[in-house]
Amino acid sequence: MTAFSLEPSQLARCAELRTLAAERLRPLAEKGEPGRVNRALVAELGALGLLSRLFTAGALDLCLMRESLAQACTEAETALALQGLGAHPVHAHGTPGQRERWLPRVSDGTAVAAFALSEPGAGSDAAALSLRAERDGPDGWRLTGEKCWISNAPDADLYTVFARTTPAAGARGVTAFLVPADRPGLTGSRLDMVAPHAVGTLRFDGVPVTAADVLGEPDAGFRVAMDTLNLFRPSVGAFAVGMAQAALDATLAHTATRDAFGGRLKDLQAVAHQVAEMSVRTEAARLMVYAAATAYDEGADDVPRRSAMAKLLATETAQYVVDTAVQLHGARALCRGHLLEHLYREVRAPRIYEGASEVQRGIIAKELYKTLEAR
Ligand SMILES: Cc1cc2nc3c(=O)[nH]c(=O)nc-3n(C[C@H](O)[C@H](O)[C@H](O)COP(=O)(O)OP(=O)(O)OC[C@H]3O[C@@H](n4cnc5c(N)ncnc54)[C@H](O)[C@@H]3O)c2cc1C
Repeated sequence: MTAFSLEPSQLARCAELRTLAAERLRPLAEKGEPGRVNRALVAELGALGLLSRLFTAGALDLCLMRESLAQACTEAETALALQGLGAHPVHAHGTPGQRERWLPRVSDGTAVAAFALSEPGAGSDAAALSLRAERDGPDGWRLTGEKCWISNAPDADLYTVFARTTPAAGARGVTAFLVPADRPGLTGSRLDMVAPHAVGTLRFDGVPVTAADVLGEPDAGFRVAMDTLNLFRPSVGAFAVGMAQAALDATLAHTATRDAFGGRLKDLQAVAHQVAEMSVRTEAARLMVYAAATAYDEGADDVPRRSAMAKLLATETAQYVVDTAVQLHGARALCRGHLLEHLYREVRAPRIYEGASEVQRGIIAKELYKTLEAR
């Protein structure tokens, strides 16, 4: 296996996933309500065995799943990714009891997971989070504060919540808790976002948690968050590549058939060159995503730099490709319900979440100078 070509079996699996997404998942996604968790879709992802693979797959396999699903059904892609993001901390850092209670349900799609790190006052600077975990007896804490921009909130059944157990200790004073949605004092509300999936806020009003709810060790929760984001970051790039490919495919089909100026749109060199550019950039982003995911699976020491590069390049590329696709489709692309209108909304948020593009550039530069100093 090299970073530059996939095995025939992997290519066949991707084709199979695209077909499943188009035939089994797309119809369920179309029945869903915008801004709400689509439980029928999550259950079908479970029935198809895709959710359990989240916990056995490596980073490359995760990327191939996300890219393939995104090409035919972004809603299914996002539902899958969010189950992974919310439950990976339970899989990687949970106790046997936490894992036994939740992972089978996350895998069969009967429990919906969410990852609650961001707060009104702590987004890119996540280590500044202030949701308080105050001691309540020798074995417990009470959580007080707010989380916002949380995907799957407030519909989820379990939340991985990052809270401050040691004041003024920055990243070193954060603990990860597994908080079931039915804990007293936990409420949430919906946010109406450009992104089509459910996003909401969570309010914690003295929510009780105990040592049995801690993921990993007290005060070591920031590592849990970063481990999760390191795994998922290249796969956000894969989601973006899938969207770019869908936009490119639609543009090829449209420009090859649309009559214009006595020929087809594709006969105009200005159009054909734009399609070529979309294709070149999409392919470059895809290769960088595969290389980053392969580096992760091999335990390479340049994973932070590669993951940041892959996420940055792929999400920025997808924005360019989808925007160009809208341009080459003309007005029809902006009609509600058109594939490109949908992709135009979907493509924006990944440049902000899991580390905005500027944050990725910061990571890349820091890693480059670190390498220079180590020489
Ligand atoms: C659709 C959607 C879903 C989300 N889902 C989740 C979720 O499930 N769980 C969760 O915890 N969070 C989630 N988020 C929140 C997301 O992680 C944050 O929006 C992100 O971390 C940025 O934080 P912020 O929005 O507060 O922006 P800020 O941190 O205020 O940053 C604003 C802008 O400032 C610039 N900037 C910030 N830092 C730097 C820097 N170091 N260098 C240069 N420029 C910088 C960037 O342009 C950035 O976009 C989601 C967001 C969206 C849009």
